[in-house]
Amino acid sequence: MVALYALNRQELTDLVLSLGEPRFRADQVWGWLYDKGAPDLEAMSNLPRPLREKLQAAATLGTLSVETEQIAKDGTVKRLYKLADGQLIESVLMKYDGVRRTACISSQAGCAMGCVFCATGQMGFARHLSSGEIFEQAARYSSDLRLEGERLSNIVLMGMGEPFHNYDAVLHAVRRLMSDLGIGARHITISTVGLVPKIRQFAEEGLQVKLAISLHAATDEERAALLPVNKRYPLADLMAACQYYAEKAQRRISFEWALIAGKNDTPQTAHTLGRLLRGLDAHVNLIPLNPTTEYGGAPTGMEAAAVFVEILESHGIPATIRVRRGIDIDAGCGQLKSKVARKAQ
Ligand code: SAH
Ligand code: SF4
Repeated sequence: MVALYALNRQELTDLVLSLGEPRFRADQVWGWLYDKGAPDLEAMSNLPRPLREKLQAAATLGTLSVETEQIAKDGTVKRLYKLADGQLIESVLMKYDGVRRTACISSQAGCAMGCVFCATGQMGFARHLSSGEIFEQAARYSSDLRLEGERLSNIVLMGMGEPFHNYDAVLHAVRRLMSDLGIGARHITISTVGLVPKIRQFAEEGLQVKLAISLHAATDEERAALLPVNKRYPLADLMAACQYYAEKAQRRISFEWALIAGKNDTPQTAHTLGRLLRGLDAHVNLIPLNPTTEYGGAPTGMEAAAVFVEILESHGIPATIRVRRGIDIDAGCGQLKSKVARKAQ
């Protein structure tokens, strides 16, 4: 069985031709998948029944099956998907006012990076996702939105996993998000914990995709205590790679900062961060810490967060406090994990 979502346009055409059908049938199938958002093969109503039957015998739409779906008070949707081998991953759809519809998708089942405050890091690493599995998470939301007369507009690779640890599959999926889902490069964001060689490689790709770096601390000692990867790639190396990327790609970099009360939210820390980023075309996204079971830290209050923003701005660094989404269903940043998989261990 082949998954139609895993095929690019040429591969889909080859499949349809191999079933003894004319080329225009492939265009129709493609239109059903990506323009009309068909939920299954049965819905492709202008295909002759024998073709639908041949397709059903040879292919499925995708390989992900929805295990559970939760909808938060703010409309955020969180889906738990089961993969063909039983692994579980999550992806989230956030509906902002107006037309922005953002899918937050996973790149791995679990994560090997072990950041202490992240639920995915706390569960450990299971496996890399294939590019088809990464792409399909977005394609499914895109399809659902099409049926409602809406459009998936933005993608963030901020779900489970470290995208640059699964570099090739992620880049392949990202290229298909652009070519097959029609999402502009500027509306796609890859977030990395800071794998220095991959940041440099990414700078060479010539893509307009946005890069976000998870920073969270501005000294090596503090950062290594939160993000073990800092021992391998310390701040000096990370900042040099960011500098290289900014010059090469001519793109602004976003830095992610989970605000943890009393830990990395003091005025002194804000000044250290301001000095670290000075001269770089940077933007800081501040995310008050989301709760996870295995980390005791608490989120910074709004007043202290506002002071933090002011200090960064005094250093010429723009910063915004990110609105927390889907917290009541554990769909916020760093809260994704597959509870079912953990129970089964
Ligand atoms: N692995 C990538 C992308 C997934 S995590 C990365 O780390 O960048 C997406 C963002 O959520 C990262 O910036 C991460 O540091 C942040 N995050 C993780 N746990 C969090 C938590 N409990 N509260 C707030 N943000 C968190
Ligand atoms: Fe992995 Fe990102 Fe979580 Fe760190 S924050 S454990 S890199 S998913």
